[in-house]
Amino acid sequence: MSLKKLIVANWKQNGSITKLRLLTSNIIKSAKKLKVTNNIVILPPYVHLAMLSKELEKNKFGNKIVLGAQNISPFDDGAFTGEISIKMCNEFSCRYFLVGHSERREIFSESDDLISLKVLKVVENNKKVILCIGESLLQRKKNIQMKVLSSQLKKGLSKLSPTMRRNKVNNIIIAYEPIWAIGTGRSASIEDIYSTHAYISTVLKTLFPVKDKIPKILYGGSVNNKNSSEILSINGVDGALVGGASLNAKKFIDICSSI
Ligand code: PEP
Repeated sequence: MSLKKLIVANWKQNGSITKLRLLTSNIIKSAKKLKVTNNIVILPPYVHLAMLSKELEKNKFGNKIVLGAQNISPFDDGAFTGEISIKMCNEFSCRYFLVGHSERREIFSESDDLISLKVLKVVENNKKVILCIGESLLQRKKNIQMKVLSSQLKKGLSKLSPTMRRNKVNNIIIAYEPIWAIGTGRSASIEDIYSTHAYISTVLKTLFPVKDKIPKILYGGSVNNKNSSEILSINGVDGALVGGASLNAKKFIDICSSI
């Protein structure tokens, strides 16, 4: 198993061409200067993929920083107003696709069934899917968080055939993001992250028939440059999904180089 961590920047619906170009060039410059060894993925808003892809091309930094999309259509090109296909994202060399973020589930009512179609579409296209799962505060208060996580995992991965699960395990990444920790400045405790990741791996072992090989598991939810070193050192945490702090080049690169 790789010791390198995967750090994913989710820029959500933020920024402008000018701001994000500057942010990108500052991230690249600092990553080079600090010789960051962890792998970095940036998920900009779709309309900025072209600019980002040019910036990354111009400032070659091996394969250290790659692009991805914050969402994806479950369909190939066609009459799907407002949607963006994998083929379109391929033109900007997107390798990662975020699926099932709690903002998509809660604000845009995305169901587990729709999410499972998106997971399938990404894996079929030989790209990497980051499937987000996470419980709400109410579910945690009712102590049903493990049930919720297990159900989101099983349903989200349900359309992958046994062959896909066997051969494409490296294309699947899980992001555990407790909803109450997203954007609140209050990350889950070290103990909670450890035990929840351990539970997620137990469920994944039942879903992936490859001995000792399960998808990587990232933690997301108020990761910042102060808590990242401790969070990324937890056994079972393969990386982080970072929202707010990824919009600041210094904070983000501090996170990327904190372990
Ligand atoms: C996210 O929304 O994926 C996220 C982790 O946000 P933040 O880091 O701001 O909590």
